Parts: sequence; C-alpha cells; structure tokens
Amino acid sequence: MRQINTVNEQELAVVLRALEHIDQAAMIISLDRHILGFNKQARELFGYEVDEILHKSTRLFYATEQEYERLGEHRYNDTTPATNTALNVQYIDKNHKTFIGRTHGGLVYDATDTPYCIMTLISDITVQMATEEALNQLHMITSSRQLTFEQRVNEILKLGAGLFGLPIGIFSQINESKSEYIIQQAVSPDNELKPGMTFDLSTTYCSHVFKANDVLGFHHVSKSHIATHPCFKNFGLEAYLGAPVFVDGVRYGTLNFSSPEPCRPFIKQDIELVKLFAAWMGHEVARNYDINALEFAHKRMAHIANTDELTGLANRRCTEDTLEEVMQRSLRLHQPLCIAIIDFDNFKNVNDTYGHSVGDETLKSHSELMKENCRGTDFYGRWGGEEFIAILPNTTLKKAIVSLERFRHKAESHRITEEIPELRVTASIGLTELRKDDTLDSLVNRADSLLYIAKESGRNNVKHDI
Ligand code: GH3
Ligand code: MG
Ligand code: MG
Repeated sequence: MRQINTVNEQELAVVLRALEHIDQAAMIISLDRHILGFNKQARELFGYEVDEILHKSTRLFYATEQEYERLGEHRYNDTTPATNTALNVQYIDKNHKTFIGRTHGGLVYDATDTPYCIMTLISDITVQMATEEALNQLHMITSSRQLTFEQRVNEILKLGAGLFGLPIGIFSQINESKSEYIIQQAVSPDNELKPGMTFDLSTTYCSHVFKANDVLGFHHVSKSHIATHPCFKNFGLEAYLGAPVFVDGVRYGTLNFSSPEPCRPFIKQDIELVKLFAAWMGHEVARNYDINALEFAHKRMAHIANTDELTGLANRRCTEDTLEEVMQRSLRLHQPLCIAIIDFDNFKNVNDTYGHSVGDETLKSHSELMKENCRGTDFYGRWGGEEFIAILPNTTLKKAIVSLERFRHKAESHRITEEIPELRVTASIGLTELRKDDTLDSLVNRADSLLYIAKESGRNNVKHDI
C-alpha cells in the first residue's frame, strides 16, 4: 500500500473542488484509509470541520470497529475489483448519532493501473429506510385478516407515533355542523385519550387541517404562526402533524400525531406518509361500512328466509331444517325428543264468521302464546295454514304432555281481541316421542295420525303415544 503523501496534492485539490458541486457526501481517502479530503456535504453529514479529521483514520466514521474491518476486507483494498454496487454502511457522526449511509466507491487507479487512492460517495438513507419499513408494516397491518377494524386502526396509530417520534396518535371524526371533534381511537403514553371524548373543533389543531383540507405539520408550535391560536393554549402541544381523512370522497375527520415537545422539522416523506396513512384510514372506514352493511343485509336475509311473515315464528323451511338437525342430534346422543303437531279446531269457521283478517289476527295472537310456552331449547314453527309444530329436545313424553297441555289450556281461554270478546279457538294436538328407527317422515306422520285421533275424539285435546 502507498502512503498518504504519495497522492499528488495538486490533483487532490482539483478533485476536491469538483466534489464541492455534487449533492452527496464525497471523500478522498489514502490507500491506508486515512482522510485526505472531503466536500461540504460530507462535513455536514458527519459534523466535522476540516482540521478535526484531516489525515485521521476513517475508522472514526464507522459505528463499529467490525464495520470498519469488514469494509477493509470487502471493498477498500487492491485485491477487490472496482464495482458500481452500493453498500449500506452504519456510520457515526461527531455527535455520536449513527445513521445508515448508502455508499458507492472503492479504489481509484492511476494511468498505469496502479492503486492511487480511495474515493467514496455517501448518502444518508436512514429516513428512506424507515419509510420503506413503515410502508412494509402498513402493508402488513392493512392486509392482515386476523386484525379487527379497531385493532388495525390502533396498529396504524402506533406505527405513525413511532415513525414520526410523536407519542400521541389520534383518529378523529369531525361533525362540522356541530363543530365537534370526536376521538374515535387514540394512542398516548398514559392512555388518557379515550374514544368518544369530544372537543370543540375550533379549539383543536385539527381545525387548521380541516380548514386547509390538506396535511399540515408544525414542529415547534410556539414559534409558528398558530402560537396564539386557542389550540396551543388548550392542549400545549408543541409538535403536530395531521391529515384529513376522507371516506368515499367525503371529509370524515383527521389522523394526527402530536407531542408536548417540539420535534425535528417535518420533511417531505413525513407529509407523504401521514397522507398515505390517512388514505388507508379512509379505506378502512369505508370497508368497515361495507362489511357492516353486508353483515346487516345477510342477517336480515337469513331472518326473512327463516321467518314466517304473519306470526314471526320459524317458517316451514326453517322448521323442517331444525327438526332434521335436532332429530339427528337426539339419535346420536341418545337423548329423548318429542314433537307435537298443533292444529286449530274449526278454524274455517273463524274465517267464515269474522273474516280472514280476524283469522290472521287469531293465528298471530296464538303464536304469541306458543312463544310464551317455549322454554329452554323448545322450538315452535309454522308448519302451514293453521298447523304448527312444537319441537321439544331432551324432553321425555311425560314432560312434553305437561308442556302441550299447558298450551292447550291457555289457548282455549285466550281472548284474541277486545273487539270480539267472545272469540275463542281451541287446538288439537298430536304428540309423539322419537324412536330409534325414525325418519323425519315417520316421526311427523305419527304425530299427524295422533292429531287425527285428537280431532276424531272431539277436538281440544292432546293425543300422544301410549
Ligand atoms: P279442523 O282442523 O278442526 O278439522 O277444522 P278446520 O276448519 O281448522 O280445518 P281445515 O284444515 O279444513 O281448515 C283450515 C282453515 O284454516 C282453512 C283456511 O282458510 C284457514 N287458514 C289456513 N291458513 C290461514 C291463514 O294464514 N289465515 C287465515 N285467516 N286462515 C287460514
Ligand atoms: Mg288444518
Ligand atoms: Mg284446523
């Protein structure tokens, strides 16, 4: 290796002057890795004056001894061929702050192909890497199926708080007509901010974001033009970064991060990131709206599909499905199961005498009696017309008789409407217990036959297996 003083001073001076004009930190280094010169950007990046480091070992720029050794072995020696590949290196500045520098460079050869010196170009990519990392994390949060809407929002708030170095993160909803600022979710060091907390919009930092309809950042509020605004008096936060959140194109609220302490000036990446986070919040809210609307529609559809419109009891389809399911379970678990078919007596007369709508009213009113009679896992469904089925899982015949007799008894004295005080209807009931070799048809047919016997023997009674 050549010694420091073998580099031609005049050539060095020319090169260094040229390097003053590039926007990366640049250094000329001797083959034994001592500093021969560097440009203004390098002085700013590492925080040293020329005299402080000239002719010193480059070791002082490296965050660790190992990093210095590694670069010596892999790049800055005359056995490694010249390369355009950049290396990410951990450096340390005069104030002991470490940073990642994207580093190009290596040996420079003279006209006779003899190693002459080392040249390096360095850019600080700490912010860029943090941004990339934040984007990765944002992607992970927003694409995770395991997280609920609230958990996702919470993760985004935590991510932003960490990234911007602002410990308070708030996702707010703004009610413009009432001038209200409502916290939807928040992260803060002592958790004093809770969902639902409401503030007068005009006293908040977010009022500025709302007015501007754009991202705003204040890294030192008391030295900014909003120092006299009520927000600073009210909350005393020195640093604030906020973005409007739009849901389906409509202004919804804000996403903001803040701190009681001033912070470094915000850079373009901060603005872009908070904007991106806010856009994601908007999507999350919209998606949550969609999911809720879908769930609601789904439940409503299921309800409609399974419910009899007139009586509000389960309809035929749902009753059949339920019976099949309960039957299979009872057989599997060797549990008793009773079913009863309930048919109102002389119902035609009700329609003929009082009209069809009174008939409807009667069915409705008696269905309420059935619902009242329903205990535990009992189930009542409309089988069709004025016929109903009671399904009594895990119930012996003895207990089922008591239950159905109770209903029959209530029914016969039940007053249906004030307008026709004399109107009463009775019910005949066929009740049977599940047998080992039953199918749905054989079970229902047996109940039907018992119902027929009940009708034959004078109506208004319960006939059951003996
Ligand atoms: P019984 O069962 O005692 O032998 O006599 P019934 O008069 O009830 O017998 P049937 O099965 O012949 O008649 C049932 C009547 O119930 C006929 C039908 O008009 C009436 N019905 C069935 N569904 C409805 C309904 O949803 N609303 C009204 N108002 N009437 C209904
Ligand atoms: Mg009938
Ligand atoms: Mg009938």
